[in-house]
Amino acid sequence: MSIKNIDDLYIMGTYKRFPVEIVSGKGSKVVDTAGKEYIDMGSGIGVTSFGIADDEWQKAIISQIGKVQHMSNLYYTEPCALLAEKLCQMTGMKKVFFSNSGAEANECAIKAARKYGCEKHGEDYYTVVTLNNSFHGRTITTLAATGQEHYHELFRPLTPGFVSADADDAAALIKTALDVKAAAVMIECIQGEGGVVPLKKDFVTEVAAFCKENDVLLIVDEVQTGNGRSGKLYSYMNYGVTPDIVTTAKGLAGGLPIGATLFGEKVQSVYGYGDHGSTFGGNPVCACAALSILSRIDDNLLEDVKKKSQYVFDEFKNAEGVEAVSGMGLMIGIKTTAPAAQVVAKCMENGVLCLTAKDKVRLLPALNIPSEVLAKAVDIIKTACAEVAQNES
Ligand SMILES: *Cc1c(COP(=O)(O)O)cnc(C)c1O
Repeated sequence: MSIKNIDDLYIMGTYKRFPVEIVSGKGSKVVDTAGKEYIDMGSGIGVTSFGIADDEWQKAIISQIGKVQHMSNLYYTEPCALLAEKLCQMTGMKKVFFSNSGAEANECAIKAARKYGCEKHGEDYYTVVTLNNSFHGRTITTLAATGQEHYHELFRPLTPGFVSADADDAAALIKTALDVKAAAVMIECIQGEGGVVPLKKDFVTEVAAFCKENDVLLIVDEVQTGNGRSGKLYSYMNYGVTPDIVTTAKGLAGGLPIGATLFGEKVQSVYGYGDHGSTFGGNPVCACAALSILSRIDDNLLEDVKKKSQYVFDEFKNAEGVEAVSGMGLMIGIKTTAPAAQVVAKCMENGVLCLTAKDKVRLLPALNIPSEVLAKAVDIIKTACAEVAQNES
């Protein structure tokens, strides 16, 4: 039986997979069972920050696997402590809680907001205001936080205590937050699953100012936008605001599972002993991977991300079959004239793996994708945009 057949028989059918089995790779290239090579413009959905099987990343984790692969949170381990220190030094945040995924990092932030709101303002102050078109995860609570109805269907009742407001309408959001006695406002600065849509700068600064004045926590979900993806270490840094809580995951450990919730000054003591926990959170191998990734996200790399971003924007602007380009850094959405799924299928046929987000082709290449590899992928994607558009008309 082929792997596809076994998978179809035994894996719960939650993913509509492409008929391709990836067996190996290096950097921004992956290879399937037939030996066909693809340029990877998705990075496992923004996870493999420095590509597949990167040498430096491998070295960092292999040495730790030979020492201690896991220890419970009852004891101290060095990688976990050093990673928390590095995250705080790089952001100015004060404390970190480690988990294993984006949804868990958000759960940790939401629990913290409820505890803070209740203790500081009273037991009615538990609601978290999120944005329409947002995405915060798949658990029952992070689904409730996700401002997209179609994810909610079939799973009600969801966790109460969430309302959503429109992005880029600060007055309406502020009114909602006051009406519901909000404990927190939670945003993605660039809505990823929602179609790679950056929030407007005025909106983010107004919301941040409101939160500060009213002691409502500002939570920024940097699960997809974080760790260099936007051209800054975290996307909120493009907006000149200071969140109270930052959550991140995906690209942080370059391909191993990790979630991190970062707490600013105001909430640095929100949790006490026993208030939260995780068996795997802070795993030393994952922490070593993340330390290695963060050590490489320096000004040079970020400049390079911005340069490559500009290149991609320039190439797709006014290209045939392309209506618009959105995003920031190496998180880019291409609104195509033809259906995005058809363009992605064509790209795959021609050796490039791309993602979709809503009605867009979404690109999340490795942060260190070589310029010539990026150029080749851009050529193939542009050709696909034009060809599929022509066939459609
Ligand atoms: C992917 C994503 C999540 C969920 O992360 P998981 O690791 O899949 O739980 C949450 N928020 C945003 C913005 C994401 O892109």
